[in-house]
Amino acid sequence: MTATTHRAPADTEAATVEIHDVHKWYGTHRVLDGVDLTVRPGEVTVILGPSGSGKSTLLRVVNHLERPEIGHVSINGELIGVRRQGERLKELSERAILTQRSRIGFVFQNFNLFPHLTVLDNVAAAPVATGKLGKPEAVELARELLGRVGLADRTGAYPRQLSGGQQQRVAIARALALRPGVILFDEPTSALDPELVGEVLAVIKDLATSRTTLLIVTHEIGFAREIADRVVFIDGGRIIEQGPPSEVLDKPRHERTRDFLSKVL
Ligand code: ADP
Ligand code: MG
Repeated sequence: MTATTHRAPADTEAATVEIHDVHKWYGTHRVLDGVDLTVRPGEVTVILGPSGSGKSTLLRVVNHLERPEIGHVSINGELIGVRRQGERLKELSERAILTQRSRIGFVFQNFNLFPHLTVLDNVAAAPVATGKLGKPEAVELARELLGRVGLADRTGAYPRQLSGGQQQRVAIARALALRPGVILFDEPTSALDPELVGEVLAVIKDLATSRTTLLIVTHEIGFAREIADRVVFIDGGRIIEQGPPSEVLDKPRHERTRDFLSKVL
């Protein structure tokens, strides 16, 4: 058997994400109020905003964990969660939604690893479950990805045996295992002890330089300045301003952005 037999598939092309006029409310509480955002392939977008401003909800809409009341999201031109039928939008089947979700990586604040699986199996599980890879290929890919996040020596450990920073690096490897066109990060370092933040940011920085489309919610302003192509400031469910870090972070035009930055910097 040659070495090429188990070669993992090539990286998926970085995706374009289009968020078009998205409105979302819970009861009478409007959480997203007409968000428009297009993220180009390979672009790194950092989303900033006060607590409760709708950042998590926006990411959850992109991943179809929430359905907007108005508006839609598309990835590489394909509508997420729905398809057009004449003038109307029709819900996709559960199965079709799962297929779409498998092309979108999501890294949560609290890691959300499977506690009963080893590190290796946490990373190898999804490509097997979705039928993308056979078990041997998935295990080989998982080893490669765990090496990339600096955890080649912890493949047999269980999540509870790892530090928070290590767990989050496993979660990032797990997101990469499906070769997603885009990865969404929701405050990936805010549950970590301060001394563990750097190792996780370093892994995300590695992704940022490898032309993956990234949408990152974070309060790490220095990190945003370093890696973001674009910073988007959200307040009250609306984009208040956006632009390169040198503008939004260093010369914010809006009072609300200035006020927010003065609190987090
Ligand atoms: P952020 O991530 O910016 O802190 P969220 O998107 O989590 O903000 O929440 C925005 C607003 O929506 C908050 O006021 C929050 O309480 C509310 N919210 C979020 N999820 C739900 C839900 N499932 N049901 C009701 N209200 C919600
Ligand atoms: Mg949030």
